[in-house]
Amino acid sequence: MNSGTDSALDSLPPLALYVHLPWCVRKCPYCDFNSHQAPSELPAKDYVDALLADLELDLPLVWGRTVQSIFFGGGTPSLFSAKWIERLIAGFRARLRVSPQAECTLEANPGTTEHDSFSAYRDAGINRVSLGVQSFNDELLQRLGRIHGSAEIETAVESIHTAGISNFNIDLMYALPGQSTNEALDDIRRAIHCAPSHLSFYQLTIEPNTAFHASPPKLPDEDTAWDMQEQCGELLLESGFRQYEISAWARAGFRCRHNLNYWRYGDFLGIGAGAHSKLTLPAEQSVRRRVRHRHPDVWLKAMQSGEWLADDRLIGEEERVFEFFLNQLRLYDGVRKDQFTPRTGVGWNRISARLEKAIERGVLQDSCGMLKPTALGWRFSNEIQAMFLPPGIEKKPQSSYNADLH
Ligand code: SF4
Repeated sequence: MNSGTDSALDSLPPLALYVHLPWCVRKCPYCDFNSHQAPSELPAKDYVDALLADLELDLPLVWGRTVQSIFFGGGTPSLFSAKWIERLIAGFRARLRVSPQAECTLEANPGTTEHDSFSAYRDAGINRVSLGVQSFNDELLQRLGRIHGSAEIETAVESIHTAGISNFNIDLMYALPGQSTNEALDDIRRAIHCAPSHLSFYQLTIEPNTAFHASPPKLPDEDTAWDMQEQCGELLLESGFRQYEISAWARAGFRCRHNLNYWRYGDFLGIGAGAHSKLTLPAEQSVRRRVRHRHPDVWLKAMQSGEWLADDRLIGEEERVFEFFLNQLRLYDGVRKDQFTPRTGVGWNRISARLEKAIERGVLQDSCGMLKPTALGWRFSNEIQAMFLPPGIEKKPQSSYNADLH
């Protein structure tokens, strides 16, 4: 591996742009994202103008760089019509260099795209859709407090196919209130039948500050949840999907480039209410994290007053080391050793003793330039992550580091 001395942050990682559109028809009882029930009339024009103004404020931090992916996340971005998405993409291209091959994802929820077909979003510049299906079972969807049913899913999937958008993700959850393993398998079969290129498959967990936390539903026990995960995973494998991250499955060539950039500790500029940025600044030899005000009303007002940031700080070396490993250890390919110093600015010698210890204990293996958890390591992934925690810091929830990861 490299030198024993710390190296400069002199080679910039890929840059992604995240755009937060924070409103939903109503708040789901399990949701801890920064999402808010939409007012009767969406302030679409004010919000879009503020997003472009927000981008301009951070342009000096990304001058001359090329954006490799754009992700419209939420909330429910498909509440914004294609006209507004087109205006935003044109506004980004006028202000930033956007790669002609950029992956450009729109999160959409069934039942919210009646006003515009996916062909209109495709014409606006969207080339990847992430559809929040969660389940195909009408009764389970009701228990989850979702606004859609299986009929709306069918309509949305048909519209995606008609638009010719082949790069399309389905978000699906398992271990839902009262769900049996057979029902989870049925959901996976129906998802595969929709012919997506990517599947995000998550276990429902009860998060603090949600309606489910205040009044928890009865969920399947851990053994049943494990069974669902295993059996559904087998079906996905048989159908040509490969798991590349704890919750992400893709067909060959369709891994989500935007999320991979987060996981590989690339740079991202986040705009909109509550959005996070992580940017490498070679001139200052530092990595900077910025967070916007979370509530859309507060952020919109703050944009006018010029005090739009809730947090703005440089990330210290130990914290960079932790963040670098945190998400890469979720990837099945493991951690790329050659990216450690260029992305953290920290010399390999600072972590070699910790890694040797982990390898000796049999939780990590070092092969072909990659560090991967062993089978034992997957069972103790929290323990591995704790090895890289900055001294004196408790592990924060994953969302504190990647608040915009969907
Ligand atoms: S639709 Fe998604 S973002 Fe909106 S409240 Fe439900 S889970 Fe949260």
